[in-house]
Amino acid sequence: MAQIRINNLRKEFGAFTAVRSSTFTIEDGEFFMLLGPSGCGKTTTLRMMAGLELPTAGEIYIDGEEVAQKRASQRDIAFVFQMFALYPHMTVGGNIGYPLRSQGMSRADTKARVMEVAKILGIETMLAKPVGGLSSGDRQRVALGRAIVRRPKAFFMDEPLGALDAEFREHMAEELRALHDRMGATTVYVTHDQLEAMQMGDKIVVMNHGVVEQFGVPQDIYDWPATLFVANFIGSPPMNVLRFPGTVAAGDSRIDLGGVPVDVPVTREGASGDLVLGVRPEHVRLDDGAQYRGEVIAAEYLGTTQIVTLRTPHGEVKARLASDRVVRPGETTGLGFDARTLTVFRGTDGAALRSAANERVLGHG
Ligand code: ATP
Repeated sequence: MAQIRINNLRKEFGAFTAVRSSTFTIEDGEFFMLLGPSGCGKTTTLRMMAGLELPTAGEIYIDGEEVAQKRASQRDIAFVFQMFALYPHMTVGGNIGYPLRSQGMSRADTKARVMEVAKILGIETMLAKPVGGLSSGDRQRVALGRAIVRRPKAFFMDEPLGALDAEFREHMAEELRALHDRMGATTVYVTHDQLEAMQMGDKIVVMNHGVVEQFGVPQDIYDWPATLFVANFIGSPPMNVLRFPGTVAAGDSRIDLGGVPVDVPVTREGASGDLVLGVRPEHVRLDDGAQYRGEVIAAEYLGTTQIVTLRTPHGEVKARLASDRVVRPGETTGLGFDARTLTVFRGTDGAALRSAANERVLGHG
């Protein structure tokens, strides 16, 4: 059990900065996701937390103790590198017990602990089997068992499900999450898959180019992205972004979208020039009475919903609608936006403008 606090963590590889200045806290018992595209610095962040990489600057606290300069072996965490890396000549029990035996634990004590872990994982009948013939799911369970058996303060996992096919991946994701809930140990999990992060995580850090773009619970990150990067990275399809030149002042509750007034949550700060209106597809409605117009160019049927693409004066907009709503490509219609859900961004740096709706998540500035 551990709280992990990262403060202004930085990593340079020669002239290249892989992690700029990360600050966030992982609470005891959380399932915590480090999310971002390839090369954004998530693995480097995890490796610094684990003690496998020395930070260039910044602090790492595990349960209040500063560990940035401590070796991995002194941190009491288990790194699940790659779930399939088992010792092929040993049995299931031998693999799980190996970390304890190599620490000098007696045969009898090791056996008891291995049995306890095997029960948690539901593999107690397999302990005497060689790992060679196991299914990939069971191999994964054995690898997890080897991490769990030490009773570390925290588990670190780097894309553990990356190599699996979609169906099995979903199954293992559920199993990992259930296992976490049973054990209550802090878990830090690296992924580039936003759906996996949203489904499994208690909290998410979204990284891009070595920078923490946002940190919070999945729903807040989805509803109130702090930056255009997050707006675009989270959600499928992502948030619609309508770029427009304009001016908003603190206290405004309406923007001028190419001559059409659009209600937005009361802004807490102003901006002018290049602005962006962000709206999730499920918050766009087709409304013949609405002044803002678009032409339907495609409809993609998804079962209970459909994604309708419209051409507007500010680019393509996707709307998620009930699938029984009849739309015809070529028809022109009005688009209404659910005012309470909208975010206005500065186009220049992509930062969300604070508003009455998002200030709880983004802070009061
Ligand atoms: P991926 O999912 O592709 O592994 P990531 O977000 O985990 O991406 P990192 O592995 O943390 O990214 O790498 C961040 C950047 O740092 C990458 O551009 C990578 O090439 C670079 N990098 C990582 N390790 C080293 C190293 N030892 N020497 C030089 N550059 C490195």
